[in-house]
Amino acid sequence: MEKLKWNYEKYSFSLTRSEVKLREQLLYWLPEKIIDSHSHINVPNLITSHDFLLSHPASTFLDFDLKKSTKLNQILFPGRFVKSLFIPCPFVGIDFYSSNKYFKKQINQPDRFAIMGIPDEVDYTVKAIKSSKCAALKMYPWQTFPPYSHIYDFFRPEILEFCQNNKTPIILHLPRRIEEITNEVKQLMIDFPKLIVVLAHLGVPSYESKNIEKDYREIKKYPNLFFDTALVISSLIIGSALKVFGYERLLFGTDAPINMIRGILYQNPQLGERMASAYPYHWVDYNEYVEYGYLAKNATHLHWQALLSLREAIEKMYPRCKSVLDSIFFKNAKNVYFF
Ligand SMILES: [Zn+2]
Repeated sequence: MEKLKWNYEKYSFSLTRSEVKLREQLLYWLPEKIIDSHSHINVPNLITSHDFLLSHPASTFLDFDLKKSTKLNQILFPGRFVKSLFIPCPFVGIDFYSSNKYFKKQINQPDRFAIMGIPDEVDYTVKAIKSSKCAALKMYPWQTFPPYSHIYDFFRPEILEFCQNNKTPIILHLPRRIEEITNEVKQLMIDFPKLIVVLAHLGVPSYESKNIEKDYREIKKYPNLFFDTALVISSLIIGSALKVFGYERLLFGTDAPINMIRGILYQNPQLGERMASAYPYHWVDYNEYVEYGYLAKNATHLHWQALLSLREAIEKMYPRCKSVLDSIFFKNAKNVYFF
């Protein structure tokens, strides 16, 4: 794919008046040093194209390189020192081999990166980890279509064995809702007790989870299990994670640049949890837009919604506690990914 047919940068990377206000309030609260544990980079020549990718919000900013990421951090966190753990765009339709090459070449200190593993290629994946200074291994259910539905389908045990011995953390996006899959997570932690596992998005692939606290308690006892907060917009879920795991196992993440989408999560009577947007992104379903777009009329970037939820949950449990903020926004990621 040579040229993307869309470009949302102008609309997305400038702030509205209400977003500028939110930024001001949040900057007052945020610590000086930040590690973003979940940030994506992609460039158009890594795309081989796939209908599923292009119909997904993840395809909103496929042209987003290191330079743009640096610029975005200056917009979102002006005056703050931000380091990032960069993750390739993990969707089917991306050329993962070239993506890994690009990451190895482009990303240097003080940032770090995750290498993209390939489920059917154990040897390649092990070599890719060995031959790079990667901080983690990423593999993802939607690396193929239809997606993998079990953890060991894409994180093959041979690869996990290597990561455990090599002390390479894995970033795991759960392939199903957490309540359906806690047994698989437990089995993973039993089979590989020394493996460091970071569950992306606090382990919540979708945004509403009924008994999340109960699910969290099921997996609480594994000390090598960590969680990134990328794009979790529910302060209830963040609060449950804090309550069950404490603040030393949560790592701040943005999911940039996907956090720059403006939209609102809502319950669609037929389709369940969906994102409504008042902006006609290429992946927005026209009928849904006509029917529900109005819900998102004044929607801010998802970034601000996620940060506000994080602030609400943290301040409720640990009011005005600087050391907790330093842990979640910096120290925990430094320890897990060796920044
Ligand atoms: Zn992500």
